[in-house]
Amino acid sequence: MNFQQIFGNLPETEASAPGRVNLLGEHTDYNDGFVLPIAIPQKTTVQMGFSNDGQHHFYSQNLDQQVSILEINHTPLGFASYIFGCIQILKKEGYKIPSLNLYIKSSVPIGSGLSSSAALEVATLRAIRQLLNLSINDVEIAQFAQQAEINYAGVQCGIMDQMASSLADTEHILFLDTRTLSFCLLPFPSKAEIVVIDSGVPRRLASSGYNQRRTECEQAAQLLGVKALRDITRLEATEDLPEPLRRRARHVVTENNRVLEVLQILETRHVASVERFGKLMNASHASLRDDYEVSVPALDMLVEILQETPGVFGARLTGAGFGGACVALVAKGEGRAIATTVLEQYNYHSGYTGRVLVPTTGF
Ligand code: ADP
Ligand code: MG
Repeated sequence: MNFQQIFGNLPETEASAPGRVNLLGEHTDYNDGFVLPIAIPQKTTVQMGFSNDGQHHFYSQNLDQQVSILEINHTPLGFASYIFGCIQILKKEGYKIPSLNLYIKSSVPIGSGLSSSAALEVATLRAIRQLLNLSINDVEIAQFAQQAEINYAGVQCGIMDQMASSLADTEHILFLDTRTLSFCLLPFPSKAEIVVIDSGVPRRLASSGYNQRRTECEQAAQLLGVKALRDITRLEATEDLPEPLRRRARHVVTENNRVLEVLQILETRHVASVERFGKLMNASHASLRDDYEVSVPALDMLVEILQETPGVFGARLTGAGFGGACVALVAKGEGRAIATTVLEQYNYHSGYTGRVLVPTTGF
């Protein structure tokens, strides 16, 4: 079913936004720290038109589901909450938004940690901006998207996903300071490409583990007398903290320093920089495993297989951990072959069924 078959006319406009993968800077965003995401090739497209019955209608091709909402209704549940949230946030900002028809289709894997939710929000906001000719910039789009996700979908998220979807593309890594929102776009190393493999491990402990880590970081910052762990740059400052706060703080401090080092090497564009970038990804994984304790044996195995494969510069778990995906930086042109052999070994030895998410198999 296409837009016309669902709504009886053609869309007025269409906009897209990509998913993202975080290359470095894990669990740093809620510590006011630094992150380095990049857009992935998969994207969400929103086709949009005016509705003439006073209701919003949202149709998702992926879910084959339609939700209709009267303006005065309470926030809907499920996927419609993300879209309704975007509309409500724009209204709160003073924009007049008419009743809309939305048709959503996406190649971003949903719920795999590649941020299909941010892609949905950013594509929705871009389509509305285009349809109504609103003068909103890309940073505002990201901010509105984040507010929609927090206040309407009920997900306490940072701003990395929305900033990455709104500002990055597949050729440019986003460096983002999550405290000041200052950012820059860095060209992706020409010698490399990325591989993303889903471990197939369900993220059962993810939300409780995530909340616990957040609390531990807040406690550590309080004991150190700073607003957030971002304010600690020297590792020695963390040495007197009680365990496990010392280890948690050590991860955040070293991870922020790793991101800043990559920022520097990407800016200089030295040919050797990609090897160093890979080594820092490996160090990030070790830190997430040993100090932050958010890895699981299957993720360690997947990362290890990746790291031992020729052509791989570096690999780490990506996302909150406890399951989910791994990202690797590999030699350009070799991504598909590397992903295929690594997946075969991983599936055989781990007992899980992994899945290659990037490079894409075409859609
Ligand atoms: P992710 O890591 O993919 O962002 P989330 O749990 O944050 O995982 O967001 C997934 C949710 O976003 C889905 O459950 C759904 O409500 C919504 N969503 C994302 N993409 C789509 C889509 N194409 N169609 C309908 N809903 C979508
Ligand atoms: Mg999400």
